[in-house]
This record gives sequence, C-alpha cells and structure tokens, in this order.
Amino acid sequence: MPTQSDPAPCAEGEDLYECRDCLTRLCSNDRVMSCPDCGGEMENLSKPRLQ
Ligand SMILES: [Zn+2]
Repeated sequence: MPTQSDPAPCAEGEDLYECRDCLTRLCSNDRVMSCPDCGGEMENLSKPRLQ
C-alpha cells in the first residue's frame, strides 16, 4: 500500500537532490551527478528504499 508518509517538495515524478558539500537542493527528472553551484557530489534524497 503506497502511503505519502514523507512528502517531498518536488513535483510528482521528480527526485530531490542535495549537494553533499554546499547542501544546495534541487528537483529534477534526470539524474544529477554534480552540483550546479559548486560541482560537488549530489545525493538523491528521493531514492526508493531497497528491502
Ligand atoms: Zn554544491
């Protein structure tokens, strides 16, 4: 059963990314590998959990 327990500030279908260096956040439909601000590594915060 899908539940919206942790609503993301992104549109449906988009993933939320956060820069590990400067903590810039952005939403994108595509994979974001590097931060547009500092070029640091981006982490996908919307990554589905694997169990
Ligand atoms: Zn950054």
